[in-house]
Amino acid sequence: MGSNEYLDKEIETASPKYVQRLQEAKLGKQLDYLYARSVFYQEKFQAAGLQRKHYRRVRDLERFPFTTKEELRESQAICPPLGKHIAAKIDDVIRVHSSTGTTGKPSFVGLTRRDAKMWTKLTARSFYTQGLRKQDVVIHAAGLTLFVAGLSSKDAIEHVGAMFVPIGTGASEKALMAIQLLKATAMHCTPSYAAYFAEWIRREAQLEARDLGLKKLFCGAEPGAGIPAVRAKLQEDWGARVTEGLGNADMAPIIFSECPHQSGMHFNGQEYVLAEIIDPDNGESLPIEAGVSGELVYTSLERECVPLLRFRTRDRVTILGTSCPCGRTGFKLRCVGRTDDMLIVLGVNVFPSAVKDIVSSFRPRTTGEIQIILTEPGPRVAPPLKVVAEYANSCSDLPALKQEVERKIKATLTVAASLDLVPAGTLPRYEMKGQLIKKHYE
Ligand SMILES: [Zn+2]
Repeated sequence: MGSNEYLDKEIETASPKYVQRLQEAKLGKQLDYLYARSVFYQEKFQAAGLQRKHYRRVRDLERFPFTTKEELRESQAICPPLGKHIAAKIDDVIRVHSSTGTTGKPSFVGLTRRDAKMWTKLTARSFYTQGLRKQDVVIHAAGLTLFVAGLSSKDAIEHVGAMFVPIGTGASEKALMAIQLLKATAMHCTPSYAAYFAEWIRREAQLEARDLGLKKLFCGAEPGAGIPAVRAKLQEDWGARVTEGLGNADMAPIIFSECPHQSGMHFNGQEYVLAEIIDPDNGESLPIEAGVSGELVYTSLERECVPLLRFRTRDRVTILGTSCPCGRTGFKLRCVGRTDDMLIVLGVNVFPSAVKDIVSSFRPRTTGEIQIILTEPGPRVAPPLKVVAEYANSCSDLPALKQEVERKIKATLTVAASLDLVPAGTLPRYEMKGQLIKKHYE
């Protein structure tokens, strides 16, 4: 495999031991910085009785406390505009992004010049891993403004030398025109949008997305592109290879991304971010081995503005492997959903994306679109789990379909479900992130 298959060959193919040593040293420096500059962490460390000398090796990180999104929100409310966790001078902040979260009030993330440069390198490496090359013309059909993967994607795609086409969201007509006139080869968007846009093109332009010539779909911002049946449909609709990326608004836009082997997202943050997988219930660190599932936790290794230590992402992931035919040594994972979306049916954890996967596997009898109906606030749901799914117009035996899907949900997820079949096109489509849960209460 030629050296041009990697953007940063040395680090992307480094041995785990080398990466661990590098991270160990960098984390020491980052802690020096936190002890010197971050009021937020000075207080946290003092409360936990931890001094700088308590950190000597990477393993010692486990003694340090987690950081939660709630703490960051509170810190920003008490100490606006960027919070007590800002560790750089406000004059050195060159850009802010934000995540909206569930409360609707934005939570700001600042970047110094050095932070922005680091984001660009890491995001570029992630896109390159997904197969982005200099020759590509990339339609950016995702958020462009405050969204962390907006301007950062522009910087990263330009860094690789490809052509960035800033379309944004809610502009399908413009996106289609740009694809045709610029002979686009790639698109960056949410999987929900890729599905929506393919249907839109069929309906509004009487064209098939697969005839437009796109070769690569770079998806992210929600699980979906990694769900086998959903991916299969996107690839069929677009005639393009679908790969996905995973990042975090408070850490970096894209930290994990999938190579063309499509066997899970590689960790790409070697020298920038330390990633841990923990048991979400007791907080214990889990080994980085195939088959391990847990919550993803990030620690910054060279952040100036908002360095975070053991930040709990609420992303639930499963490690798929620690090696790959592409030669990258970054471990691979798949994100099954966020803790916030998780439902518990008689003690069994159920992610809406898993239900969508099952229903989608019945295509072409179903369209793959689903909604889970909650009649009471979650996460606990009394069985059966109420699922609405669309049947395709060509499907004639609805009672049989209903029974088969319900059986497969029971067999795969070990929860009872009751399926309500509705005609194709009944459920809402989303141009941003999909909403798989519908609340029937207030
Ligand atoms: Zn690979």
